[in-house]
Amino acid sequence: MQEFYNETFLNAQKQLDHVARMMNLDTGIHERLRYPRKALIVSVPIKLDNGQTRVYSGYRVQHDQSLGPTKGGIRFHHEVNLGEVAALAMWMTWKCALLNLPYGGAKGGVCCFPEEMSTAEMERLARRYTTEILSMIGPEKDIPAPDMYTNEQTMAWIMDTYSNFIGYAVPGVVTGKPVAVGGSLGRREATGRGVAHTIKMALEKMDLGDRPTAAVQGFGNVGSITAKYLDLQGVKVVAVSDVQGGIHNPNGLDIPRLLNYVADRGTVIGFDDLDSMDNKDLLELDVDILVPAALANVVTEHNADKLKCKILAEGANGPVTPEADKILQEKGVFIIPGILANAGGVVVSYFEWVQDIQHLFWTEDQVNEKLAYLMGRAFEEVYNVSQAKKVDNRTAAMMIGVGRVASAKILRGLYP
Ligand code: GLU
Repeated sequence: MQEFYNETFLNAQKQLDHVARMMNLDTGIHERLRYPRKALIVSVPIKLDNGQTRVYSGYRVQHDQSLGPTKGGIRFHHEVNLGEVAALAMWMTWKCALLNLPYGGAKGGVCCFPEEMSTAEMERLARRYTTEILSMIGPEKDIPAPDMYTNEQTMAWIMDTYSNFIGYAVPGVVTGKPVAVGGSLGRREATGRGVAHTIKMALEKMDLGDRPTAAVQGFGNVGSITAKYLDLQGVKVVAVSDVQGGIHNPNGLDIPRLLNYVADRGTVIGFDDLDSMDNKDLLELDVDILVPAALANVVTEHNADKLKCKILAEGANGPVTPEADKILQEKGVFIIPGILANAGGVVVSYFEWVQDIQHLFWTEDQVNEKLAYLMGRAFEEVYNVSQAKKVDNRTAAMMIGVGRVASAKILRGLYP
């Protein structure tokens, strides 16, 4: 299984190995969970607008299907590779199990530079990639969703391509679709809402004063909505960033105005004529709450010691390396691991899939209420296990997730 081995995959395996030791996991189950069950590598050739043909590498990895069909996003990014996709698929398994969703974990991606591609090129890429992974996906098999640089439109193209092959409309093949083609109200904001909700719950467990401060790295779907809800919750958001860099105002940023600014300009840079700052420096600001909501592996053993936050909520998947994790724990930082903090997206994906299958749609209030309930329940479970077993939140969250998958595996046995 060496083909998966890159830094991110080894980090995901290390986290599992640690938790397996802590919970005395059956060695056979542990061994099975260390690798994905299925991985597909495909060539995705498309015609560029300039008439040239280009071949991109695409991946879809299913980690485990003990609890149900597999679920997880598709990302378009220049750093996508097999190891990263396999790690992300493994994290989806723990995330779905922790939230008690009837899913296993999967992830997909295409290695490309989406910022440099036209909408027409993106459409051809999404459709051809769907065609190449068609045998793996389906509403009862494996259900993709948006991730980095994919969105509702991408999901509509995937749904359309799949439906054309099947011969009738199959909305349940993907989640995170536009509402007009079977998407769910509340899905677009669900991940950021969930991140802000878990931060609110963490703040109730500790005393950080009346108006705690926050910095958010990444201003895409997750970071921007997290900032929006933190602001509404009374948190002073002092710094945010995107790929081009960050902005900082110690007195607090006007988040509603910033959201409009970004909708117009496509970047946070230049807002209120603030000086831009480096993405790395943002992580080290003296704030109460830090939300890395962009790339993986941004907090490492080289900068963990310099972080000043008291709460770190992982909006992104895997932003903290295992070495950095240890340093932050020694410093007493309250980490809300990604499999909990950013689970709001897949929770509402689950609601969308259920609505599609039932052909019966819910109001936005119903969606948000159920989301808050599931996030709150998972947060309390993680907190209680961490207190009872005297372990950090990530270990507690994984013990719950891995434990649920392991129980299902034991009951189902090993085929044949
Ligand atoms: N890509 C998101 C995640 O990492 C959402 C996955 C989904 O909704 O299936 O959790």
